Amino acid sequence: MTDNHAMLPAWLASAPYLPEFQVRDTRHKYGRYDPALKIITVADLLRFHGHLCGGLMEAAVALRAAFDVLFPDGVIDRTDMAIISNNSACGGDVAAYLTGARARFGSHVIDLTLRGGEFIVRRMSTGETVHVRMHPHVYPHEVKAQMRKLESGDYGPEDIDLFGELQWAYAGRLASRPASESVIIEILRDFTWPDPTCDDLGRRTDNDFKHAV
Ligand SMILES: [Zn+2]
Repeated sequence: MTDNHAMLPAWLASAPYLPEFQVRDTRHKYGRYDPALKIITVADLLRFHGHLCGGLMEAAVALRAAFDVLFPDGVIDRTDMAIISNNSACGGDVAAYLTGARARFGSHVIDLTLRGGEFIVRRMSTGETVHVRMHPHVYPHEVKAQMRKLESGDYGPEDIDLFGELQWAYAGRLASRPASESVIIEILRDFTWPDPTCDDLGRRTDNDFKHAV
């Protein structure tokens, strides 16, 4: 067994506000709710997503703040959410992992007008819906400028390294302050949920028996 934080750089593992997520799932397919809860860490997100990046940390921080509103008892129900995100490889992965929503079941909707770190999250059983986005004061201008340089094709090897360093520094900043200080969160009332992004391929059925007696 390895330490759950072993994959993280020491500067991040020791960050004072590294988010964690206590989640609730069913015990097996067609199972009732599992009385045992799980803890999902940023290291787990890294395992799933593949690399540590600014988008991963933006999503972790933004969704931490959203869950604090939707699940005030601190237990995040991954059978009970839908989410709208942009199509970021990074933030979209975190959105699916932490919410249990999936594009192929229509519960994860892609909206290309949303920015990085911006999500609309709904708790299905209550209808409560929140819109969360990064506060302008944390916007990583230097990361975006370097990203544009790479995407222009006019770059050298040192620019790849610099981009990685800037992204990690940004991730470190996000983990060094409470999530609530990095994001703007708004409760949406009467929000009309958009149609699913994917064709109708069926719906998620493995949570259907969560309330069974
Ligand atoms: Zn990423």
